[in-house]
Amino acid sequence: MPARIVPVPCLKDNYAYLVICEASRRAAVVDPGEPGPVEAALARESATLAAVWATHHHPDHVGGVAALIDAHPEVEVVAHRSDEARVPRAGRLVDDGDEVAVGEVRARVIHNPGHTLGGISYWIEEAGDGDDAGAVFTGDTLFGAGCGRLFEGTPAMMHAALARLTALPATTRVYFGHEYTAANLRFAAAVEPDSAAVAARAARVAEARARGEATTPSTVAEERASNPFVRAGEPTVIAAARAREPGVDGADPAAVLGVIRAWKDRF
Ligand code: ZN
Ligand code: FE
Repeated sequence: MPARIVPVPCLKDNYAYLVICEASRRAAVVDPGEPGPVEAALARESATLAAVWATHHHPDHVGGVAALIDAHPEVEVVAHRSDEARVPRAGRLVDDGDEVAVGEVRARVIHNPGHTLGGISYWIEEAGDGDDAGAVFTGDTLFGAGCGRLFEGTPAMMHAALARLTALPATTRVYFGHEYTAANLRFAAAVEPDSAAVAARAARVAEARARGEATTPSTVAEERASNPFVRAGEPTVIAAARAREPGVDGADPAAVLGVIRAWKDRF
Protein backbone atom coordinates (compact mmCIF):
# COMPACT_ATOMS: atom_id res chain seq x y z
CA MET A 1 0.00 0.00 0.00
CA PRO A 2 1.32 3.45 -0.81
CA ALA A 3 3.20 5.13 1.98
CA ARG A 4 4.47 8.68 1.92
CA ILE A 5 7.67 9.08 3.93
CA VAL A 6 8.61 12.55 5.15
CA PRO A 7 11.92 13.23 6.94
CA VAL A 8 11.49 15.62 9.87
CA PRO A 9 14.74 17.22 11.07
CA CYS A 10 14.83 17.39 14.88
CA LEU A 11 17.29 18.78 17.42
CA LYS A 12 20.80 19.32 16.02
CA ASP A 13 21.19 16.53 13.49
CA ASN A 14 18.45 13.96 14.22
CA TYR A 15 15.81 12.76 11.80
CA ALA A 16 12.30 11.77 12.78
CA TYR A 17 10.13 10.45 9.94
CA LEU A 18 6.44 10.53 9.19
CA VAL A 19 5.16 7.33 7.58
CA ILE A 20 1.83 8.36 6.11
CA CYS A 21 -0.81 5.97 4.81
CA GLU A 22 -1.92 7.76 1.65
CA ALA A 23 -5.37 6.13 1.78
CA SER A 24 -6.27 7.27 5.31
CA ARG A 25 -3.78 10.13 5.98
CA ARG A 26 -2.97 8.36 9.23
CA ALA A 27 0.69 8.66 10.18
CA ALA A 28 3.26 6.93 12.32
CA VAL A 29 6.19 8.99 13.50
CA VAL A 30 9.55 7.26 13.80
CA ASP A 31 11.83 8.60 16.58
CA PRO A 32 10.30 11.96 17.54
CA GLY A 33 13.21 13.63 19.29
CA GLU A 34 11.09 16.70 19.95
CA PRO A 35 7.39 17.43 19.43
CA GLY A 36 7.33 20.77 17.61
CA PRO A 37 8.75 19.82 14.20
CA VAL A 38 6.61 16.65 14.19
CA GLU A 39 3.39 18.58 14.86
CA ALA A 40 4.32 21.07 12.13
CA ALA A 41 4.98 18.27 9.63
CA LEU A 42 1.67 16.56 10.50
CA ALA A 43 -0.16 19.85 9.87
CA ARG A 44 1.67 20.43 6.56
CA GLU A 45 0.77 16.92 5.43
CA SER A 46 -2.83 17.07 6.71
CA ALA A 47 -2.08 13.81 8.49
CA THR A 48 -3.40 12.42 11.77
CA LEU A 49 -0.92 10.94 14.21
CA ALA A 50 -1.75 7.28 14.88
CA ALA A 51 1.45 5.74 16.22
CA VAL A 52 4.96 6.36 17.49
CA TRP A 53 7.53 3.85 16.25
CA ALA A 54 10.59 4.12 18.51
CA THR A 55 13.83 2.54 17.33
CA HIS A 56 15.53 2.79 20.75
CA HIS A 57 15.36 4.55 24.09
CA HIS A 58 17.88 7.39 23.68
CA PRO A 59 16.42 10.83 24.48
CA ASP A 60 17.34 12.32 21.09
CA HIS A 61 14.97 9.72 19.56
CA VAL A 62 12.11 9.63 22.09
CA GLY A 63 12.37 13.04 23.79
CA GLY A 64 9.20 14.21 22.02
CA VAL A 65 7.05 11.19 22.86
CA ALA A 66 5.53 12.37 26.15
CA ALA A 67 4.42 15.73 24.74
CA LEU A 68 3.00 14.08 21.59
CA ILE A 69 1.02 11.57 23.65
CA ASP A 70 -0.25 14.31 25.96
CA ALA A 71 -1.62 16.02 22.85
CA HIS A 72 -2.78 12.77 21.16
CA PRO A 73 -3.64 10.35 24.00
CA GLU A 74 -5.05 7.65 21.69
CA VAL A 75 -1.77 7.16 19.86
CA GLU A 76 0.11 3.88 20.47
CA VAL A 77 3.84 3.91 21.26
CA VAL A 78 5.73 0.95 19.82
CA ALA A 79 9.02 -0.14 21.40
CA HIS A 80 11.04 -3.31 21.87
CA ARG A 81 9.75 -5.35 24.81
CA SER A 82 13.03 -4.88 26.69
CA ASP A 83 12.57 -1.09 26.54
CA GLU A 84 9.20 -0.95 28.31
CA ALA A 85 10.70 1.06 31.18
CA ARG A 86 13.00 3.18 28.99
CA VAL A 87 10.74 4.41 26.17
CA PRO A 88 8.20 6.92 27.55
CA ARG A 89 4.56 5.78 27.32
CA ALA A 90 5.54 2.51 25.59
CA GLY A 91 2.29 0.58 25.15
CA ARG A 92 2.76 -1.79 22.23
CA LEU A 93 5.75 -3.97 23.07
CA VAL A 94 7.21 -5.85 20.13
CA ASP A 95 9.99 -8.26 19.25
CA ASP A 96 11.74 -9.52 16.16
CA GLY A 97 9.32 -10.49 13.39
CA ASP A 98 6.28 -8.68 14.78
CA GLU A 99 4.17 -6.56 12.45
CA VAL A 100 3.01 -3.01 13.10
CA ALA A 101 0.66 -1.01 10.92
CA VAL A 102 -0.56 2.49 10.27
CA GLY A 103 -3.65 2.55 8.10
CA GLU A 104 -2.88 0.16 5.26
CA VAL A 105 0.91 0.40 5.62
CA ARG A 106 2.54 -2.53 7.36
CA ALA A 107 6.06 -2.73 8.74
CA ARG A 108 8.04 -5.68 10.06
CA VAL A 109 10.13 -5.31 13.24
CA ILE A 110 13.78 -6.32 13.03
CA HIS A 111 15.49 -6.59 16.43
CA ASN A 112 19.06 -5.34 16.03
CA PRO A 113 20.91 -4.99 19.33
CA GLY A 114 24.35 -3.36 19.27
CA HIS A 115 23.99 0.40 19.76
CA THR A 116 21.46 -0.46 22.51
CA LEU A 117 20.13 -3.88 23.51
CA GLY A 118 16.53 -3.01 22.60
CA GLY A 119 17.29 -1.42 19.23
CA ILE A 120 14.80 -2.24 16.48
CA SER A 121 14.35 -1.31 12.84
CA TYR A 122 11.05 -1.05 10.97
CA TRP A 123 10.98 -2.54 7.48
CA ILE A 124 8.27 -1.75 4.94
CA GLU A 125 8.66 -4.32 2.19
CA GLU A 126 6.99 -2.21 -0.51
CA ALA A 127 6.73 1.45 0.32
CA GLY A 128 5.09 1.89 -3.09
CA ASP A 129 6.21 5.45 -3.69
CA GLY A 130 6.68 5.00 -7.42
CA ASP A 131 9.04 2.06 -7.85
CA ASP A 132 7.88 -0.41 -5.19
CA ALA A 133 11.21 -0.12 -3.37
CA GLY A 134 11.11 -1.01 0.30
CA ALA A 135 12.06 1.25 3.18
CA VAL A 136 13.79 0.54 6.46
CA PHE A 137 14.07 2.85 9.47
CA THR A 138 17.30 2.00 11.22
CA GLY A 139 17.66 4.53 14.05
CA ASP A 140 21.26 4.53 15.27
CA THR A 141 22.08 1.01 14.07
CA LEU A 142 22.85 1.55 10.36
CA PHE A 143 23.78 5.10 9.33
CA GLY A 144 24.69 6.45 5.94
CA ALA A 145 28.24 5.05 5.58
CA GLY A 146 28.45 4.24 9.28
CA CYS A 147 26.94 2.57 12.32
CA GLY A 148 26.09 3.60 15.87
CA ARG A 149 28.49 3.42 18.78
CA LEU A 150 28.40 0.22 20.83
CA PHE A 151 26.92 1.61 24.04
CA GLU A 152 25.23 -1.59 25.21
CA GLY A 153 26.00 -4.36 22.74
CA THR A 154 29.02 -6.16 21.31
CA PRO A 155 30.78 -6.02 17.96
CA ALA A 156 29.25 -9.43 17.19
CA MET A 157 25.75 -8.06 17.79
CA MET A 158 26.38 -5.06 15.55
CA HIS A 159 27.89 -7.24 12.85
CA ALA A 160 24.81 -9.48 12.90
CA ALA A 161 22.52 -6.44 12.85
CA LEU A 162 24.24 -4.84 9.86
CA ALA A 163 24.34 -8.18 8.03
CA ARG A 164 20.59 -8.57 8.41
CA LEU A 165 19.76 -5.02 7.40
CA THR A 166 21.98 -5.12 4.33
CA ALA A 167 20.54 -8.51 3.32
CA LEU A 168 17.31 -6.65 2.51
CA PRO A 169 16.77 -6.04 -1.22
CA ALA A 170 19.45 -3.76 -2.73
CA THR A 171 16.93 -1.09 -3.69
CA THR A 172 15.60 -0.78 -0.12
CA ARG A 173 15.82 2.81 1.05
CA VAL A 174 17.64 3.27 4.34
CA TYR A 175 16.20 5.99 6.58
CA PHE A 176 18.71 6.56 9.39
CA GLY A 177 18.61 8.53 12.62
CA HIS A 178 21.29 11.20 12.16
CA GLU A 179 22.83 13.38 9.46
CA TYR A 180 26.33 11.96 9.94
CA THR A 181 26.96 10.80 6.37
CA ALA A 182 29.64 13.33 5.35
CA ALA A 183 31.75 12.69 8.46
CA ASN A 184 31.21 8.94 8.11
CA LEU A 185 32.53 9.07 4.55
CA ARG A 186 35.70 10.85 5.70
CA PHE A 187 36.27 7.87 7.98
CA ALA A 188 35.31 5.40 5.23
CA ALA A 189 38.02 6.99 3.04
CA ALA A 190 40.56 6.41 5.81
CA VAL A 191 39.58 2.73 5.99
CA GLU A 192 39.40 2.19 2.21
CA PRO A 193 41.52 4.97 0.64
CA ASP A 194 41.45 3.38 -2.82
CA SER A 195 37.68 2.88 -2.95
CA ALA A 196 36.05 4.53 -5.96
CA ALA A 197 32.63 3.90 -4.40
CA VAL A 198 33.57 5.83 -1.26
CA ALA A 199 35.07 8.70 -3.28
CA ALA A 200 32.05 8.95 -5.59
CA ARG A 201 29.61 8.87 -2.69
CA ALA A 202 31.60 11.49 -0.76
CA ALA A 203 31.43 13.79 -3.79
CA ARG A 204 27.65 13.26 -4.14
CA VAL A 205 27.11 13.85 -0.43
CA ALA A 206 29.26 16.99 -0.39
CA GLU A 207 27.20 18.42 -3.27
CA ALA A 208 23.92 17.56 -1.55
CA ARG A 209 25.03 19.12 1.73
CA ALA A 210 26.24 22.26 -0.08
CA ARG A 211 22.71 22.57 -1.49
CA GLY A 212 21.33 22.16 2.04
CA GLU A 213 19.83 18.75 1.25
CA ALA A 214 19.52 15.78 3.59
CA THR A 215 21.44 12.61 2.71
CA THR A 216 18.62 10.39 3.98
CA PRO A 217 17.55 8.00 2.59
CA SER A 218 20.45 6.01 1.23
CA THR A 219 19.98 2.53 -0.21
CA VAL A 220 21.09 -0.92 0.86
CA ALA A 221 23.18 -1.06 -2.32
CA GLU A 222 25.08 2.10 -1.34
CA GLU A 223 25.74 0.78 2.16
CA ARG A 224 27.06 -2.52 0.79
CA ALA A 225 29.39 -0.59 -1.52
CA SER A 226 30.79 2.09 0.77
CA ASN A 227 29.98 1.52 4.46
CA PRO A 228 33.14 0.18 6.16
CA PHE A 229 31.18 -1.44 9.00
CA VAL A 230 29.00 -3.35 6.54
CA ARG A 231 32.19 -4.31 4.68
CA ALA A 232 34.05 -5.86 7.64
CA GLY A 233 34.46 -9.11 5.71
CA GLU A 234 36.12 -7.45 2.69
CA PRO A 235 39.89 -7.87 2.19
CA THR A 236 40.50 -4.09 2.06
CA VAL A 237 38.74 -3.53 5.39
CA ILE A 238 40.40 -6.55 6.99
CA ALA A 239 43.80 -5.18 5.90
CA ALA A 240 43.00 -1.76 7.39
CA ALA A 241 41.95 -3.36 10.69
CA ARG A 242 45.12 -5.49 10.77
CA ALA A 243 47.23 -2.39 10.17
CA ARG A 244 45.61 -0.81 13.25
CA GLU A 245 45.70 -3.97 15.36
CA PRO A 246 47.92 -6.75 14.01
CA GLY A 247 46.49 -9.36 16.39
CA VAL A 248 42.94 -9.17 15.07
CA ASP A 249 41.54 -12.33 13.47
CA GLY A 250 40.90 -11.26 9.89
CA ALA A 251 38.65 -14.27 9.33
CA ASP A 252 36.22 -12.95 11.98
CA PRO A 253 34.24 -10.00 10.59
CA ALA A 254 32.81 -9.19 14.04
CA ALA A 255 36.34 -8.77 15.40
CA VAL A 256 37.27 -6.65 12.38
CA LEU A 257 34.18 -4.53 12.97
CA GLY A 258 35.24 -4.12 16.62
CA VAL A 259 38.63 -2.74 15.58
CA ILE A 260 37.09 -0.39 13.00
CA ARG A 261 34.45 0.79 15.50
CA ALA A 262 37.09 1.54 18.18
CA TRP A 263 39.12 3.42 15.55
CA LYS A 264 36.10 5.49 14.55
CA ASP A 265 35.36 6.31 18.21
CA ARG A 266 38.66 8.24 18.26
CA PHE A 267 38.72 9.44 14.64
ZN1 ZN B 1 21.06 6.45 20.04
FE1 FE C 1 20.80 9.14 18.30
